[in-house]
Amino acid sequence: MKKALTLLLTLMFAFSLSACGSFNFSGNITTNSTSGTVQSDENSWTGTSTTDAGIPTDENQLVTTITSTNTSTHVHIYSEATCTNPKTCSCGDTEGEALGHDYIEGTCSRCGDSDPNYSPNEVELCSMSVTDSHFYNHINEAKLVKDTVGNIHTTGNLFALGSGGSYTGQKKPPFATYYLGGQYSTLTLNIAIDANSGSSEAYFMIYDENDNILYQTDYIGRQFAPQQLNLDVSGMEWITFKLVEESQMDNNVVMLLSNPIFHK
Ligand SMILES: [Zn+2]
Ligand SMILES: [Zn+2]
Repeated sequence: MKKALTLLLTLMFAFSLSACGSFNFSGNITTNSTSGTVQSDENSWTGTSTTDAGIPTDENQLVTTITSTNTSTHVHIYSEATCTNPKTCSCGDTEGEALGHDYIEGTCSRCGDSDPNYSPNEVELCSMSVTDSHFYNHINEAKLVKDTVGNIHTTGNLFALGSGGSYTGQKKPPFATYYLGGQYSTLTLNIAIDANSGSSEAYFMIYDENDNILYQTDYIGRQFAPQQLNLDVSGMEWITFKLVEESQMDNNVVMLLSNPIFHK
């Protein structure tokens, strides 16, 4: 009897290992010899595969003759790992690790997340938020933009300052203000008069939060040679671009701000 008990325990252990949980043996097995004959409550099994102790090692043969119950088995189905989560099954089980973000110039290539630590050395004006403006347009669509001397300006990081004559008697001149927060050292940009500009003239001005003038043109109109500017903006909190005409009644100059970039 003691031997039978030992065998029973050994059998159950063996099955739970080899059947990976899919085979649940619930009967009693006894053996009376080492000849390979195993008996259960309900049936008997005679196998050929035995251990030294007469224990069947092929549980598949045993399953065919003794009463057993199959438990339903959960098979993990993992979703793909993401930037922030490892492979995850609906049961909550996980495998491996999260991929982590793949930041390229401050943006994750997989999920679009913004890198909180990203501080680029160059920032295009088109990626900044305009705080306040009047008669100021971001030229973002694909179209041919020429200045009055025939240069073609790439759209995207391109802005037009001025009404083009669509208003008269406006009290507010065309302007645009941006927040810099003292983060930048220089501003580079090209300025030119839009080929569609009217024939009036204006001063183009760039100034800071204290109305200190950083740059100013002569009183200019269509006859203006495009300029490349490289301006010191170190310590500046705010920057404003503005067109000022002597007569507010006839303001149709359009200035192009082409590829403005702030540098750290
Ligand atoms: Zn699962
Ligand atoms: Zn990501």
